Amino acid sequence: MLSLKDKDRPIIRKLLDAGCCARCVLRFCCVGKYSSYQRSLEDINKELLAFLSEADEQKSHEVSDHTQTEDPPSKKMKLESPQAGEDGSSETAAADAQPKVRSEICVACLGVLQDFCDQSYTKQVCDSVRKGEYQFDSLVLAVSLPAQLSVREHSCWLHIKKEAREKSMCMDKEDVVQVKDAFKWAIQGMVGKDLGASVLTNSAFEVSVGFTHPETDSDCHFLATTCSDCFKPTKNKASVFTRMAVVKALEKISDQKFLRNYPCPPVSPIGKCTPLDTTCLHASVFIAGRYNKFSRELPQTPWVIDGERRMEGSVEELIADPLLSSFSADGFNFSSSGREDVDVRTLGNGRPFAMELLNPHRARFNRAEIRQLQETINASSDKIRVRDLQIVTREAMGRMKEGEEEKTKSYSALIWTKKAITNTDLDFIGNIKELKIDQKTPLRVLHRRPLAVRQRVIHSMGASFMDTHHFRLQLHTQAGTYIKEFVHGDFGRTKPNLCALMESEVDILELDVESVDVDWPPAVPE
Ligand code: ZN
Repeated sequence: MLSLKDKDRPIIRKLLDAGCCARCVLRFCCVGKYSSYQRSLEDINKELLAFLSEADEQKSHEVSDHTQTEDPPSKKMKLESPQAGEDGSSETAAADAQPKVRSEICVACLGVLQDFCDQSYTKQVCDSVRKGEYQFDSLVLAVSLPAQLSVREHSCWLHIKKEAREKSMCMDKEDVVQVKDAFKWAIQGMVGKDLGASVLTNSAFEVSVGFTHPETDSDCHFLATTCSDCFKPTKNKASVFTRMAVVKALEKISDQKFLRNYPCPPVSPIGKCTPLDTTCLHASVFIAGRYNKFSRELPQTPWVIDGERRMEGSVEELIADPLLSSFSADGFNFSSSGREDVDVRTLGNGRPFAMELLNPHRARFNRAEIRQLQETINASSDKIRVRDLQIVTREAMGRMKEGEEEKTKSYSALIWTKKAITNTDLDFIGNIKELKIDQKTPLRVLHRRPLAVRQRVIHSMGASFMDTHHFRLQLHTQAGTYIKEFVHGDFGRTKPNLCALMESEVDILELDVESVDVDWPPAVPE
């Protein structure tokens, strides 16, 4: 049943004597069968002791063959009777058997595999997950353990290393099952069953559990002296003894040096680990679409200067608010294919945007529900309108940004000229094709963008007469062209510009984006 081999006997004896729990004994015997860890501690203890006494009676072969064939039905039985572990006390198992299993807190796992693999602990975890009111049908369990477990693990390994090496050529420290894995194997089935979810390593929903053991925190301290280069103080970490740093130091330290500085086997702790609060995190959901902006008094993102709000509302907030509440998300990141100024409208098919919704508690929406959400957004304000709303993948979102420089945009602008407009002027503008312009970073954005000269192309223009001093200018340009600066010249920072081309003072009174030629996200049929 436990798939133990004859060669494991001396190791089992040594570990039990050192104060290891039954599950840790299985780990050091490299038992890789999940079901072995799901049995109650009492059962595992009994079986370990029986296995040891078999050797004394010289009949190990017959029994181990017998238990092998019995494995599948009893594995099933154990899975279906999870309460078996609740009153599991190692003392009763040890009472009438030789050698004894000690009843103290395990020196290797500090109780993680003794006291937290039963239903009373998993029920706590599940109750706390349910409080988060997440919607999920699968989960992945993340376990964080105190860093000193690695030190204790190393000490236990050195304690049995000689026997392990002598009896089997292949056994190495890496073959030992990690506390983290054994713990997951022991409880994740119960957690999944209780929450009605399957346990998948690639699940978007992560349940994090963890333990601390302040009493033995100082176990790691000698490493700071013996391997000082492994422990660099960092701003963000509360302690330099991170799990990573401790593992790295243990890889470096020689056996002799370790044994001079740390007891082998480790000393028994007084108390067991304390469980940390269970936390949940759902992977981000990405939602994309296109928006129109019909207002000349609405910024794309909140307009805040020196901590003070300059204008009410923004495109991203108008879109985000209904999404945040429907997805019950903690926050969002907004991105779009370019952006327009506060006073610029975005018409036509709109501007592609994508939004990352952080830690959504609800993540499954069908097409009809997304359509309903789009309608909710559109009903909430007449300043914007959203279309093609859809859930996309993180990877697909990259399509919006890729090749952005090569994309084109179309604009419509209302232009004022100082001189009276003639038909010759309008024809002249209409005949300009593939005009290359150099734009120094505009004065108005210089506070947030580095100073640079960018070359952009005006692919074509068209002009239609309105009155003697006004005409409407249509532009088809490379994405990223500063249109206002192309018109007024930005004090000569954009060359050539419309002032220079028309040999007159000109200004831009209104600007609309007519189309953003990015073929993402795909259109959603009405
Ligand atoms: Zn243990």
